Amino acid sequence: FRVPVAVNEPVKDYAPGSPERKAVSETYKEMYNSTIDVPLFIDGKDVKTGDTDTMSPPHDHKHILGTYHRAEKKNIDAAIATALEARKKWSKTPWEQRAAIFLRAAELIAGPYRARINAATMLAQSKTIYQAEIDAACELIDFLRFNVQFMTEIYNEQPASTSGAWNRLEYRPLEGFIYAITPFNFTAIAANLPASAALMGNVVVWKPSDSQVYSAKIILDIFKEAGVPDGVINMVMGDPVMITDTVLASPEFSGVHFTGSTHVFKDIWKKIGMNIHNYKTYPKIVGETGGKDFIVAHKTANPSQVATAIARGAFEFQGQKCSAASRCYISESIWNDVEEILVDQVNSFKMGSPEDMGNFITAVIHEGSFDKLAKYINQAKEDKNADIIVGGSYDKSKGYFIDPTVIVTKDPKYTTMQEELFGPVVTIYVFEDDKWEETLDLVDTTSEYALTGAVLSEDRYALETAVRMLENAAGNFYINDKPTGAVVGQQPFGGARSSGTNDKAGSKLNLLRWVSPRMVKETF
Ligand code: GLU
Repeated sequence: FRVPVAVNEPVKDYAPGSPERKAVSETYKEMYNSTIDVPLFIDGKDVKTGDTDTMSPPHDHKHILGTYHRAEKKNIDAAIATALEARKKWSKTPWEQRAAIFLRAAELIAGPYRARINAATMLAQSKTIYQAEIDAACELIDFLRFNVQFMTEIYNEQPASTSGAWNRLEYRPLEGFIYAITPFNFTAIAANLPASAALMGNVVVWKPSDSQVYSAKIILDIFKEAGVPDGVINMVMGDPVMITDTVLASPEFSGVHFTGSTHVFKDIWKKIGMNIHNYKTYPKIVGETGGKDFIVAHKTANPSQVATAIARGAFEFQGQKCSAASRCYISESIWNDVEEILVDQVNSFKMGSPEDMGNFITAVIHEGSFDKLAKYINQAKEDKNADIIVGGSYDKSKGYFIDPTVIVTKDPKYTTMQEELFGPVVTIYVFEDDKWEETLDLVDTTSEYALTGAVLSEDRYALETAVRMLENAAGNFYINDKPTGAVVGQQPFGGARSSGTNDKAGSKLNLLRWVSPRMVKETF
């Protein structure tokens, strides 16, 4: 099995005057000035239920981008039935046909759809062009290309045989169908969760986040044009509890591919347990959930490197990354320097609409998120254990804008050192220089999560201690870097503890969850 060698899609820089900047600006304006209606997508057909919700840009929430339709229970039943029907052919489709479809999808995004998918992500999920390009274009293209390569590597993994007998492992798709539940914060993840399962020969019922439906529609158009057959990926929106309960009640449910919040994932796990006697097969449960990602800086770390790791790790993408730095532990003797550089950097960030490409940070996703962040900021303003050293303002009159905010606390267990905020707020605890091991112990035990983390130091022994003591504290561990920005094909991504099942998105480990191998021994 050989396929084109996967390479990471180069990130375009959208320099002023460049054709890609012009194309994306024009597409953004065109989309802003028109409205769309997004139906459910079942068996390759649009299904309008008439029960609709509106979509608005988070940075301009009074403006309407269009509507999407909400499913009734009968639509979910239809999506399951159609997926199972499509499975009869799709699961038997040769691997190279499936690979060709998704490689074609990658090229459609790299070329004709690039401006559209980026503009949609900027408009409806409030990302700057740079954030959109890294996510909706490059990361998505990378997922599609690398997964094809990983698939063939899996198929090539075969047991040894002796003369007289031939052992063959067949990596068959799962029986039944897969349920993909996807988040707002990455268009790439939203597309990859259904696509990776489908690539391995499975059929999918896909429920995108309400806040990502706008770009999900474009993903569907791309998949259709690339040749994904009708019924293989079906998209449904609406009441998440009704949709999940209907899906999990089907005896043919064979797995969930999830990215979202921890409590929803745990709830799904519990419901699967309650239904376990109804299923034909043990469902695969694959999920990436929350994070409370750390930066810990030793007294030997370079202050400017530490400040940049915090500023970029916490505030890029409005802090709306599972991997975003949100609790930092900084050694006392470097803190003054780190603080000065960090405050300067944060003050230089421009915040506003993604339409203005000079902006570094835009709005958070919706009012619920805005109110939650504002509540934590207000608490910090009132709490004697916390000081806000930069930021602290917010305004939702036009869009859901939260100033990038740095809280410094004397209490290493302060609420914002422990709870996931999912926005542009970071908390810092300054520790005494000679308390390195005690601090590493705090890092390990303060949060229930274990997604990402970074350690910065110029001392090899200090680094070695951190690597060892934080062995289970992060699925993606960075040395002398920020804790964000995993690249498909380079750093497989995922965490353990309450952060998920650690099935590493963008790796063979993940794709292996979507197969049910049959071992065939033929004796001659
Ligand atoms: N893979 C992204 C990163 O490394 C984060 C994805 C997420 O937020 O779920 O920064």
